[in-house]
Amino acid sequence: MSYNIAIDGPAGAGKSTIAKLLAKKLGYVYVDTGAMYRAIALYLLREKVRPGDTEAISRTCMEAEVTLLYQDGEQMVLLNGENVNGLIRTEEVGNMASNASAVPAVRARLLQLQRDLAASENVIMDGRDIGTCVLPDADVKLFLTAGSAVRARRRYEELLAKGTPGSFEQIEKDIIERDARDRNREISPLRQAEDACLVDTSDMDIPQVVDTILEICRQKGCI
Ligand code: C5P
Repeated sequence: MSYNIAIDGPAGAGKSTIAKLLAKKLGYVYVDTGAMYRAIALYLLREKVRPGDTEAISRTCMEAEVTLLYQDGEQMVLLNGENVNGLIRTEEVGNMASNASAVPAVRARLLQLQRDLAASENVIMDGRDIGTCVLPDADVKLFLTAGSAVRARRRYEELLAKGTPGSFEQIEKDIIERDARDRNREISPLRQAEDACLVDTSDMDIPQVVDTILEICRQKGCI
C-alpha cells in the first residue's frame, strides 16, 4: 500500500518548493502535475494552436505523449521523448497550460498517468485538483494559499533569480487571471477539498510551512 499526500492551491502559493522539501524529508516521490500540463502547453504553442481554440486543443493534445522520469530524485518531464524541463517554466507556457487545462481531452490524457503513479509509490502530488479529483482518497490533503501580491512577489523573485525578470504588475495580473480561470472552469476547478487542511503561507517562511505540514502528516499517521 502506498501513502499519498495531495497539495493543491493557486499559482505561487509555494506548492512545489514545499512539496519538494517534504518529499526529500519523507522519502516520497514528488509529482508535479503542473509540469505535465505545461508540457502539453509547450506542444500546443509549438504547433501554433491558439489558447481559445478548444477544438484544436482537443485534437492536437492527442499527439503529445507526456511521461515522467526520475533522476537523482528530480522529476524530468518528457514530451514525445524529449526532456522539456528547461523549457516549460515561462509565463507564456503557464498561461497556455491554464487555458489548455480547462479542456476535458487534456485532463483525461493526464488523469490515469497521475493515478498510476500514486498507486505504485508513496507520492506527494501537487496541482489544482489532486485532493478533489485525482486522489480523492489521499491520506493527507492540503490546500496551500497566500495573498495574490505575495504570490506575485515570489514569482517575480523566482524569475529574477533565473535571470529572466518580468514586470511585477504584469506578473500579478497574470496570476490573478490564471487563478480566476482555474477556479471558474467547469471541469476539475481549483478548490479546497472538504477534508483538506488550509495552510495560508502569506506570513510564513519556508521552514515554518514545512513544520506545519509535517505536524499535519504526523497527526494523520503518515510519518
Ligand atoms: O502549477 P503550475 O503553475 O505549473 O500549473 C500550470 C497550470 O496547469 C495551472 O495554472 C493550471 O491551469 C494547470 N493545472 C491544472 N491541474 C493540475 C495542475 C496544473 O489544471 N493538477
